[in-house]
Amino acid sequence: MAKVVILSGAGISAESGISTFRDADGLWENYKIEDVCLKGCLDKNREMTINFYDMRRISLKEKEPNYAHKKIAELKNKYPKDIAVITQNIDNLFEKANLEHKDVIHLHGFLTNLECEFCGLVYDVGYKKTEEAFEGKCPNCSSKKIRPFIVMFGEQAPKYKELFKEFDDCEMFVVIGTSGNVIDTDMFLNPNIKISILNNLEPSSAIDDTLYTKVLYKQASQAIDEIAQDIDTFLL
Ligand code: NAD
Ligand code: ZN
Repeated sequence: MAKVVILSGAGISAESGISTFRDADGLWENYKIEDVCLKGCLDKNREMTINFYDMRRISLKEKEPNYAHKKIAELKNKYPKDIAVITQNIDNLFEKANLEHKDVIHLHGFLTNLECEFCGLVYDVGYKKTEEAFEGKCPNCSSKKIRPFIVMFGEQAPKYKELFKEFDDCEMFVVIGTSGNVIDTDMFLNPNIKISILNNLEPSSAIDDTLYTKVLYKQASQAIDEIAQDIDTFLL
């Protein structure tokens, strides 16, 4: 449980060249979201869905963290117990910015992992395609029923438990780069929270920005110094 919760979404990685759903306009990197991101897609369009995440994984190799990832990593490493870094993103840009994987709560999965549907093993494959990592077989049980380690829309998200838990003690809530359509950020604004900061490019219909004590509509890399200073002041 942490005093400061930083919850990020696709917007924080936009400046690193990973497109958000919103930019995508119903398409994400030329795929229809309903073909590859929903519960059941792995049954109906297995090959297309696996290809889609394989392509995302391969392209992640050359993506670099931006100033906002780096600054958050720095803060988390400075105040390891007081800050929870929680993200809806499946990319590894916080890890590339020098945060340990265990220090980031990835609510919706992690692109460089795969999951065996037979024995449940979750394993790291780096930037490899599903069929190329461990010859397309589970390193534990050799099953070929391997899926992306991604929570599709409509599937259970086991890490949400940790998200709610972090709010038991939360007194400062920072939201960066999320439209609030998947996770209703307003819902977390409980009376114990003294400071709440919202940073997006523009208002979102799913967020009531009047509820936040500070609203910054600008690029995350431009907002993060002010946010970091507020966190420092709050924790010092
Ligand atoms: P979203 O696409 O719905 O909203 C993006 C938000 O980020 C918008 O509010 C926009 O104003 C803001 N934004 C865009 N560029 C920004 C910038 N440079 N600085 C600050 N804010 C910026 O994203 P979401 O709310 O995260 O929900 C989409 C879902 O898609 C999530 O479940 C996420 O897992 C998934 N997704 C992940 C990635 C990734 O891993 N990088 C990329 C796309 C989508
Ligand atoms: Zn297995």
